[in-house]
Amino acid sequence: MGSPSFKVIIAGGGPVGLTAAHALWRAGVDFVLLERAESVIIDSGPDQVLLPIGLRVLGQLGLLDSLRNVSSHLTTIGRLDHSGRSMGDIHCFFHEKRCFGAFPRVLSRHDLTRVLYDSLPDVPQNKVLTNKEVSSISSTQEGVSVSCADGSSYAGSLVIGADGAESTVNDEQPFLATYRCLWMRFPTNISPGLYPGFASETHGQDVATQSFSGKGTTMTRVYERMKKPTRKYTKYSQSDQDTFIERWGHLPLTANDKLTLRDAYENRIEAGLLSLEEGVVRNWSWSSRVVLAGDAAHAFTPSTAAGCNNGILDIVALANELHAALRDARAEAGTRDVVPTADRLEAAFRAYQETRRDAVVEICEDASNTTSLATWGTWAHKSLDRYGLGWGAVQGYFVKQATSVAANMPVLEYVAGEERLTGKTPWVNPIPSRVLTSGSSYS
Ligand SMILES: Cc1cc2nc3c(=O)[nH]c(=O)nc-3n(C[C@H](O)[C@H](O)[C@H](O)COP(=O)(O)OP(=O)(O)OC[C@H]3O[C@@H](n4cnc5c(N)ncnc54)[C@H](O)[C@@H]3O)c2cc1C
Repeated sequence: MGSPSFKVIIAGGGPVGLTAAHALWRAGVDFVLLERAESVIIDSGPDQVLLPIGLRVLGQLGLLDSLRNVSSHLTTIGRLDHSGRSMGDIHCFFHEKRCFGAFPRVLSRHDLTRVLYDSLPDVPQNKVLTNKEVSSISSTQEGVSVSCADGSSYAGSLVIGADGAESTVNDEQPFLATYRCLWMRFPTNISPGLYPGFASETHGQDVATQSFSGKGTTMTRVYERMKKPTRKYTKYSQSDQDTFIERWGHLPLTANDKLTLRDAYENRIEAGLLSLEEGVVRNWSWSSRVVLAGDAAHAFTPSTAAGCNNGILDIVALANELHAALRDARAEAGTRDVVPTADRLEAAFRAYQETRRDAVVEICEDASNTTSLATWGTWAHKSLDRYGLGWGAVQGYFVKQATSVAANMPVLEYVAGEERLTGKTPWVNPIPSRVLTSGSSYS
C-alpha cells in the first residue's frame, strides 16, 4: 500500500504538468491531473528546443531515447542582418555539447507531450483526466477541493498550478510585455536551405527572428519591440498577424536560398501572435495548499529556450521537497499511510521557492537581454551584437556564465539512474546511482 490519503492535484497537462505526473508517480505520491483540453497531446503550439538541463531530467525519467527519436539536434546558429548579410555564426550549442555532453534538440510540442504521456504506465496514465477545466480552488480541513467547469470536483492535499501563463490558479499578474512575438510552424521541406538541425537568426533594429528546423517542421519566432511596454492582455486577430507580415515579411530567414518570412508564413501549418510577458511571480505558494510551477510561476521571452526547460526543473525541485516531506511524515508516524502536516508542506514549498526563484530571476533577465541584443534595444546591445558576438571569445564569456547556472540544476534525488549527459563541466547535483527507498509504490 502507498499513501492513499496524500494526494496532489495537478492543474494543467502541458509539458510541466505531465512532468509532474512522472515525478510524483516515481515518488510514490498519488495524484490526479486535470487538463481543460480534450487531450494532452495536441498538434498545436510552438515547437520546443530542449536544452541539456531539461534533457537530463527527462533522461532520468527514462525518456531520452524516445525524445532523441522525434527530435533533431542543433549545432551552429547562422546570423544574418535584415539585409541578409552574415553577422557571424554563434557556436554556443557546441559549448553545451562540450560542457554537458549533448546538443540542444528541437521537437514539436505534439511529440514532446506524446512522449511524456505515452511513457506513463497505465496506473498513472489513468490519473490524467481531460476536458477538466479548473475553475476554483477552496481550502478544506484536510486540504483542498478543486472545482471544474463541468461541475465535477476533486479533493486533495494540495494543488500544483501548472496551468500556464494565463493561470487560473495564480491571480498575481506582475508580467510586463516589451515584445510581441509572431511564431509559426511550416514544413521543413519548403526550402532547400532548411534541414533537420538548421538554426538561424536575423537581427536588427527593433525586430529579430529565430528559426529552428526539426524533422518535419521548422519553427520561426519573430520578436518585435513594442512602442510601449504593457501589462495589458492583448488578444490579436488574424488581420493583426497579416499586418505584422506586411511590416516584416521581407526579412530573410536563410542566407543562400533567400527564404523570407513571408514565404514561410504563406506555407504555415500554424501561426500565433502574442505579447511576450516577462517576469517571475513573487510568491510561488500560499495557504500551505497551492503551489505554482512552469509558466504559471514565470514567463520569459523564448530567445534562450528557457521556459519549458525551467518548468521541468521546477517540478524536480518541488517533487524532491514533497518526497522528503512524505518520507519524514512516514518516519515520524511509523506508517506509510500518512499526510504531511500543513506546516511541513509550507516548509517544503518555501524550500522549493528558495531553490528555484533566484535562478529563475537570473534566467529571465538573461532571456530579456538576449532578445534586446538581437533587436538592438540599446546602443550598447547593438554594438555588441554587430561587432562583438561574432567572436568566439565573446561567445565563450556568455556561455561560461550560463554554464555555471546550468551545472547547478537539480535532479530527482529519489530516482536512481545513469548519468548519460556528461562533458567537461561536472554537474553539481549528480543523478544518484542508487537510492534507499523505492519509487512508485501505490496502485
Ligand atoms: C513562441 C514560443 C516559443 C517557445 N519556445 C520554447 C523553447 O524552444 N524551449 C522552451 O523551453 N520553452 C519555449 N517556450 C516556452 C514554453 O512553451 C513554455 O514555457 C511551456 O509550454 C510551459 O509549460 P507549462 O506546462 O507550464 O504551460 P503550458 O504549456 O501553457 O500548459 C498549460 C496547460 O494547462 C492547461 N490549462 C490552462 N488553464 C487550465 C485550467 N483552468 N484547467 C485545466 N487546465 C488548464 C492548458 O490547456 C495547457 O495544456 C516558448 C514559448 C513561446 C510562446
